[in-house]
Amino acid sequence: MARADECLPFTADLQAATTPDQAFQMLMDGNARFAAGTSLHCDLLAQAEATAAKQTPFACVLACIDSREAPELILDQQIGDIFVARVAGNVPTPEIIGSFEYATKVAGAKAILVVGHNHCGAIKGAVDKAVVGDNLTTLLNEIEPAITATPLTGERSSKNGAFVQAVAETNVRLGVVALLEKSPLLKSLVDAGQLKIVGGVYDLETHVVTLLA
Ligand SMILES: [Zn+2]
Repeated sequence: MARADECLPFTADLQAATTPDQAFQMLMDGNARFAAGTSLHCDLLAQAEATAAKQTPFACVLACIDSREAPELILDQQIGDIFVARVAGNVPTPEIIGSFEYATKVAGAKAILVVGHNHCGAIKGAVDKAVVGDNLTTLLNEIEPAITATPLTGERSSKNGAFVQAVAETNVRLGVVALLEKSPLLKSLVDAGQLKIVGGVYDLETHVVTLLA
């Protein structure tokens, strides 16, 4: 459900009246504004004050930590609009899945967007089996299933941009599947029509999020 003024806080009434499809459309509309150079430029301090006592966001976003993929900016969303979880390679760790269970079931968000991006360093590192630190290796191992599930398109290394992109897209698709398979709660919300989970890939050059079928 649209706000009368896009800069006004997203209220509990608006959240209650918003369908999962509408919530998702608001994310896509925001990305269209950003890519067109028509982001809203609202009074952030006024929004912070208006949402200090209560938040009723309409969506969740799982994104990479990449400095160029800041969800609130590339989706042109305001303070109080979206729950955001970020980790290199945008993989749904148990902590993130738990966070989204809270964000949807308890806090009422209607959509989850899993969004990877092109030229992703985490994807490249996983493809090349980079060894940097033990904890990073543990994280990059989470991307391994996407590498395995991506059909060979030439050289399977970070030098092959098409392969890196294909793995990034597979990784997002598997992320969406993992949210449903690892969380009976999220799946029940989707089955009941109360939640929509969709994957997409952000393009650093065009600034557009393209949804994956
Ligand atoms: Zn990345």
